[in-house]
Amino acid sequence: MAPRAIVYGGGVIALMMVALCATVLYQSRQDALDRARETSRNVALIAERDIERNFELYALSLQAVVDGLGNAEVMALPSRLRGQVLFDGAATAKNLGSMLVLDASGNVIIDAGNDTPRKGNFADRDYFTVQRDNPSAGLYVSAPFRSRLRNGSQSIALSRRVSHPDGSFAGIVLMSINLEYFHQLFAGLSLGSHGAISLIAGDGLMIMRQPFDPKIVGRDISQASTFRQFQSSMEGSFSDTSSIDGMRRLYYFRNFQTLPLIIMVAEAEPEIYAAWSRRAVRIGTLMAVFALGFVALSFILGAQLRRRMRAESELQLLARTDSLTGLHNRRTLGEILEREWRRAQRMRSMFSLLFVDIDRFKAYNDTYGHQAGDDALAAVARCIGENIRRPADTAARYGGEEFIVVLPDTMPEGASVIAEKIRAAISDLAIEHAGSEYGRVTASIGSASWTPDQETDVRTVLKAADQALYEAKVAGRNKVATCAAAG
Ligand code: GH3
Ligand code: MG
Ligand code: MG
Repeated sequence: MAPRAIVYGGGVIALMMVALCATVLYQSRQDALDRARETSRNVALIAERDIERNFELYALSLQAVVDGLGNAEVMALPSRLRGQVLFDGAATAKNLGSMLVLDASGNVIIDAGNDTPRKGNFADRDYFTVQRDNPSAGLYVSAPFRSRLRNGSQSIALSRRVSHPDGSFAGIVLMSINLEYFHQLFAGLSLGSHGAISLIAGDGLMIMRQPFDPKIVGRDISQASTFRQFQSSMEGSFSDTSSIDGMRRLYYFRNFQTLPLIIMVAEAEPEIYAAWSRRAVRIGTLMAVFALGFVALSFILGAQLRRRMRAESELQLLARTDSLTGLHNRRTLGEILEREWRRAQRMRSMFSLLFVDIDRFKAYNDTYGHQAGDDALAAVARCIGENIRRPADTAARYGGEEFIVVLPDTMPEGASVIAEKIRAAISDLAIEHAGSEYGRVTASIGSASWTPDQETDVRTVLKAADQALYEAKVAGRNKVATCAAAG
């Protein structure tokens, strides 16, 4: 595998891990939201059930009073007994304010709590006017008000119309409920330190809110955009930023089944996500460290692999080259000869070889020393390398002071030209050689070629080149000799 693939692969895996982690975290965040919505819904349902059950009892009591008022026998009873029959002990219920019967002008005529009715006229209250003006109002839930009979305690009232036999307005029966009831009910429901629960009348008046603030009771929120949302469906939830404290909350609202009331439960988003946030930070950090570590490891691995591959190819090169001259060594020469020979046969192309041997080199060593001999060898090798130009041409050290030049796809004439060029170039190096008849280092070159029509092998061509070299030596050295017809 390429080092780059390791680095890229590591990066992709790290990215996938991060993506997976992000997906899981996102999903668990959604889960937290869903759980919060479910909690809000349960809280709202609990409150709704409690309120509806109590209101149902109150409504039944009111109806019983209305029925009793129409019963002549009941009305004929002494007032204490009549009160007991009419109100049936309902007035003693916890958080119940007054239970009164008002006449058509709004004056108290029967008072559940007292044998002699407390003085009062409530013709101005909505629970009175609604029943007076609308015979079919049924059970009416009033707006919050401050009781005039009970030291201004905040209340709402339920009222029912009392009619004469002919249907004309005879007054109302009313029951006031202390808002303390809702206060206590809501206080018992836990919604976190920034949560809120509100009870809102169908017409948009605030009845109760937890956390409690007396000023908020009776506030008209019918114009608020959130309220319009409450009216659009039976229940629902949405997120919004509070204009009061700037806190983003998840709101759940629910219209009561049987009463014109709306309950709204709000949970602060920071509280909804608190546990999730802590986990997300922990897991996210761990994941980031892990992913970075993984990427770093991939880099290190990639670099290591790259270094090893470079070392390997260097080793390979070393194994293929002759250390003194930098040319191909004999082993590589064998491979090259093999390859080029097969190619020449396949392509039916001309194939030439040069055999180069330095003249009187033994004498050079004897005169100038082995080290100088090595230097001269390297210089000659460089000279040979510089005089072969085509990429396919290769030079190799055959052994000692002998070199082979492989010239694929080269005619004998071309090979002779190159041989002559090499010979001249070596001579032109002008390396002093006192033991030579030329006074300088020279080389003799034998050239041999193979034409496709000849049935032979590469060894024969090599032998022919050696033969040509011998002829060059015999001819006086520093010469090029050709053996055109190999084999
Ligand atoms: P000729 O002109 O007939 O080729 O004479 P020559 O002296 O070159 O003949 P020969 O092949 O007998 O001698 C080759 C000499 O080359 C022998 C050795 O001293 C020298 N030689 C071979 N390899 C090396 C080498 O790696 N380094 C050095 N310094 N000398 C070498
Ligand atoms: Mg020799
Ligand atoms: Mg020699």
